[in-house]
Amino acid sequence: METSLKKPKAYLFDVDGTLTDPEAKKVVRVELFEELVERLQENSFVGLNTGRSIDFVEKEIIQPLMGYLPKNDLLQHLCVIGEIGAVQVTFDSAGKATKMIDAEFTVPAVVNEKIKFLLAKPDFSELMFLDKTKEAMCSIELMPGKKVSEFREPQQKLISIIANLLVEMKLNDTYMVEGTRIAIDIYSKKLGKALGAQKFVDFIDSNNNHFKTIVCFGDSPLDYDMHEYFLRAGLQSQFVFVGEKELLKDKDQQNVVYGSQLFDAGVLAFLEAEN
Ligand SMILES: [Mg+2]
Repeated sequence: METSLKKPKAYLFDVDGTLTDPEAKKVVRVELFEELVERLQENSFVGLNTGRSIDFVEKEIIQPLMGYLPKNDLLQHLCVIGEIGAVQVTFDSAGKATKMIDAEFTVPAVVNEKIKFLLAKPDFSELMFLDKTKEAMCSIELMPGKKVSEFREPQQKLISIIANLLVEMKLNDTYMVEGTRIAIDIYSKKLGKALGAQKFVDFIDSNNNHFKTIVCFGDSPLDYDMHEYFLRAGLQSQFVFVGEKELLKDKDQQNVVYGSQLFDAGVLAFLEAEN
């Protein structure tokens, strides 16, 4: 029997800068947990779609969220997608997690070994380290306490070494290397927010739920790929964008809503207004 007056929907969230505070890198607006729980109670599906490791999401989102859940079986409607689509976690009725790592999108062990060897060199060993929580991607991060300005030159040097390595190993068609402000990431070219969106739809379908409407949230232009994927899949998608408006100026504005505030504050305001 339908107990809720609201129609169950699906919600898919980016994590960094969308649920977490962009500076603190954790959820500071704890009312967001209450909003997520409310939706799970209404039988909606909730997904997280992030480049972060499952380890990070577990610590920063799932653990605190569980503190707000009246019962663990509500987690059955939650799907966590990490490492831009490569790793997925779902829960059973007891709240027990099952993790699936997509071998198809995992950086080969031989590449990981070569990177460990490179990182042991004095040029890099003092400044960066391999993120051991990543299970499919390979991420090299700037050590805490070191400056971004010190990182730039060795970062460029290491990126070009790794790029050459991928060419030598004939893996450059399948994998890419990319620098961010504080990291170097090596990952399958097939990974992305659209892959995460596809996995979320598959998750809902596997629950035998015939849903038509979805709301997705993000703060970066890459998050728009979720919305694009859902529209192409024939769903009624709404994209709530909480980054600077200017970042989406070249995109089709169909069903795009801009947050009344930036980042997590904008997401919370949207969810509260929906009630
Ligand atoms: Mg983000």
